[in-house]
Amino acid sequence: MNEYIDTACPKCGELYLPGDLFCSKCGYEFNLVEKNENEKQYIGKNSQYYSNKFFEMRVVHKDTSWNWAAFLFPAYWCIYRKMYFYGFGLLLLQYVLKFAFLFGNIMNVAIGIAFGVYANHIYMQHVEQLVDKHQVLEEDQKKKHINQYGGVNLVALIAVIVGTFSLAVAAVLLGFEIYSLC
Ligand SMILES: [Zn+2]
Repeated sequence: MNEYIDTACPKCGELYLPGDLFCSKCGYEFNLVEKNENEKQYIGKNSQYYSNKFFEMRVVHKDTSWNWAAFLFPAYWCIYRKMYFYGFGLLLLQYVLKFAFLFGNIMNVAIGIAFGVYANHIYMQHVEQLVDKHQVLEEDQKKKHINQYGGVNLVALIAVIVGTFSLAVAAVLLGFEIYSLC
């Protein structure tokens, strides 16, 4: 009886051999629980929320989800979650698009929606890569790696918000300056 429980897929009941990573019938990943525990260390804040989202996406093999923070503030959300490449890229792109008026605004809304839908999946892949690296690190390097690349960066988030806000104010003031000179 025990043997049956140990070797049956928890999702569909298909039997599997010890050492199998995926269910041959439904694709369920057998090490999901352990994987989730490792990932939570890297997610840090709100780890339960993201862990649940990742689990849902994996079990049903979906790339889509919904994330309000990423929809409303895609660039800030990426920076906060330490995905700086995406974050600063988006910040620049969205800034440039503001000069394209209506088209730019529509594009910015489209970017927001795309991030609302795909943010959790992008973040899942990011965390998966970190966990993969974590597993091949020396024991004494693991904690350092989590602190450096895992969790959130509130300081960077505030700095970027203050920075972009200051730039916007400076642009307005400069506009007035030029206007008064004309
Ligand atoms: Zn299965």
